[in-house]
Amino acid sequence: MSVLTEQQDYRSGVRAWLRDHAPEPADGLDANAVLRRAKDFQAALYQAGYAGITWPKDVGGQGLGTAEAQIFSDEAAEHELPSGPFIIGMGMCGPTLVDLGTPEQKSRYLPKLLSGEEIWCQLFSEPGAGSDVASLQAKAVRTDDGWVFNGQKVWTTNAQWADYGAVLARTDPDRTKHAGITMFIVDMHAPGVTVRPLRDMTGRAPFNEVYFDDVHLAADSVIGEVNQGWAAAVTMLGHERVSIGASRRPRSNPLEFASLVELARAAGVAGEPGARARLAHLYAHERALELFNVRMRQETAAGNPPGARGSVAKLAGAMLQRRAIEVAGDLAGADAAAWEPDNTRGPELALGINSAPAASIAGGTNEIQRGIIGERILGLPKEPQVDRDVPFRELKVGTQRT
Ligand SMILES: Cc1cc2nc3c(=O)[nH]c(=O)nc-3n(C[C@H](O)[C@H](O)[C@H](O)COP(=O)(O)OP(=O)(O)OC[C@H]3O[C@@H](n4cnc5c(N)ncnc54)[C@H](O)[C@@H]3O)c2cc1C
Repeated sequence: MSVLTEQQDYRSGVRAWLRDHAPEPADGLDANAVLRRAKDFQAALYQAGYAGITWPKDVGGQGLGTAEAQIFSDEAAEHELPSGPFIIGMGMCGPTLVDLGTPEQKSRYLPKLLSGEEIWCQLFSEPGAGSDVASLQAKAVRTDDGWVFNGQKVWTTNAQWADYGAVLARTDPDRTKHAGITMFIVDMHAPGVTVRPLRDMTGRAPFNEVYFDDVHLAADSVIGEVNQGWAAAVTMLGHERVSIGASRRPRSNPLEFASLVELARAAGVAGEPGARARLAHLYAHERALELFNVRMRQETAAGNPPGARGSVAKLAGAMLQRRAIEVAGDLAGADAAAWEPDNTRGPELALGINSAPAASIAGGTNEIQRGIIGERILGLPKEPQVDRDVPFRELKVGTQRT
C-alpha cells in the first residue's frame, strides 16, 4: 500500500471514530463534570489508539509519525473536544518525560497520563519570575531521603485538577542563576501543597497560585540531572511553544475564519470590499501559520527539530488571535459587548474576544518570542545580561530585590 493510501485510510479511521465518539458540546458544567468528561474522553482516545500518536510505543504511545498527528489534529478541529485538563500534560510535561525521564519515571507516569487517569500541570512562573524564569526563588533543600520544597508558583494552568506537576526549584543558590536549578516531579496531593484559583478577565479561573510549605520531594523525582533544570526547562518550553503554536481551535470557535465569515454575513457586510479585505488578510495569516506548522512537523520527522522556530509559530499564533479579535469586534460592533437574552452567539463571541489576548502572554510573551527569534534565528546581538555570571545568592532579582 502506498504511503498516501495509508494516510487516507488513517484519516478515514480518525474521522469515523471522532464522528462516533466526540462528545456533543456542553455548556455550564461544574468543575467535576468537566474533569469527568475530559478523563472519559482521554481514556476512550487511548483505547482507540489515538493518544500519544508520535510517542514511542514502549511508553504507551502509538509510535507513529508527524503526518498521522497532523491528520488527527485536522480532523479534531471539526469538533469541540473536551481535552482542556490534559493540555499541559500531553503538550508539555509528557513530551519532556519522553525526552528526559528515567525508565522508571516513564513507565510510572506516561501510561497513566495517556490513559486519562492522571492530570499534570507545569509550575515554572513565580510572582518575581515570569519572562525571566531563571530568577525563580522557590527552593528545594536536600534531606536524607530526598528534598524539602518551599515557595510559591503562579498562573499554574490546570493545577486545580492536577495529580502531578513538573516544578522548577532553586537547588544551589551559590551557582549562577541558570546553573543552580533542578526540575522535579511534585505530587500535587502531597501535604503542604495549597492551590488557589485566579480569575482572568473572562470571569473564569483557568489558572491558580500554588503554595508549597515543606513539601517532600522523593530523591527519584528529579527530571534530568540535579542543577541541570535549566536544560530541562528549555526542553519543556520548546515543546510548549510548538504545542501552543500548532494547536488548532475548533472550527466552530467564534474567532475562526469560518465563524467570522458568518458574522460578516449576519452583519450584512460580507460583500463590502473593506470587510472582504480584512477577512482575506486573516485567512492568509491563518493558512500561512498552518503550513508553517506542517513544515515544522515534517522537518522534525526528518530529524531537524524546530528549536527557535517554535517561537515563530507561537508568535504568529498570538498575532493571529489579536487580528481576529479586531475583526470580530468590528464586525459585531456593540453585539460583542451586550446582547438580547435569546442571542446565544453574543456570549460566545465576548468569551472568545476576552480570552484571546492571553495567547500573547502564556508560554512566553510576544516580546520574549521576538527576542528569541532576533538572537537565535536572525543572528542579532544578544541582549546584555549583567547577572549571568554572578552567584544567584548575590543577585537582586524577583522578590529578592529588597
Ligand atoms: C493563560 C495563561 C496561562 C499560563 N499558564 C502557566 C502555567 O501553566 N505554568 C506557568 O509556569 N506559567 C504559566 N503562565 C505564566 C506565563 O508563562 C507568564 O505570564 C509569562 O511568561 C510572562 O511572565 P510575567 O507574567 O511574570 O510577566 P513579566 O515577565 O513581568 O513581563 C511584563 C512585561 O515585560 C515584558 N518583558 C519582560 N522581559 C522582557 C525582555 N527581556 N524583553 C522585552 N520585554 C520584556 C513582557 O513581554 C511583558 O510585556 C500562564 C500565563 C497565562 C496568561
